[in-house]
Amino acid sequence: MSAAVPVDVWVGLGANLGEREQALREALQAMARWPDTRLVNVSALYASSPIDAGGPDYLNAVALLRTTLPALDVLQRLQSIEQGAGRERPYRNAPRTLDLDILRYGNAELDTPTLTVPHPRMAERAFVLLPMAEVSPALVSEAALQAVADQRIERLPKAWVADLLSKK
Ligand code: ATP
Ligand code: MG
Ligand code: MG
Repeated sequence: MSAAVPVDVWVGLGANLGEREQALREALQAMARWPDTRLVNVSALYASSPIDAGGPDYLNAVALLRTTLPALDVLQRLQSIEQGAGRERPYRNAPRTLDLDILRYGNAELDTPTLTVPHPRMAERAFVLLPMAEVSPALVSEAALQAVADQRIERLPKAWVADLLSKK
């Protein structure tokens, strides 16, 4: 139990190595099991080309959580899920089995050595903005979507989330 007020947290998920959809699904299932946390909504899956890197196509999605966990606790838990999925970081933007980024933590503006929110590169990325607009349309303007309209991205059918959302 926590007395704190729940915060809406948007998490960006991405994978371009291994069993990509399974990694995203297992990550969402893990988040839904966190204490004091509900998995409120998840976007469709999106397929996108890597940016500033080679490698296979990504699968991406955005999840909306409602939690009383502190931001740094959320970050640690996301990193532990990444580790469990075999995430390696040989170099910047390297292909990966799983990337879990905090896009927004409520309205918080944080700039610490380990966590910056809102995510500083969010506005450059169609693979963040399109799924985020699907989950929370008010957060993404038409102008923001226009600015990334040249990036290759494809929305896949949404059936994959049917059994994922929290009942609690
Ligand atoms: P990008 O941040 O451009 O999406 P990336 O996701 O590939 O790059 P990672 O290797 O996953 O980068 O993370 C590098 C570091 O970023 C992490 O160790 C973490 O402490 C830090 N970080 C800062 N802000 C955030 C955030 N909002 N979400 C996740 N990690 C963050
Ligand atoms: Mg990232
Ligand atoms: Mg990351």
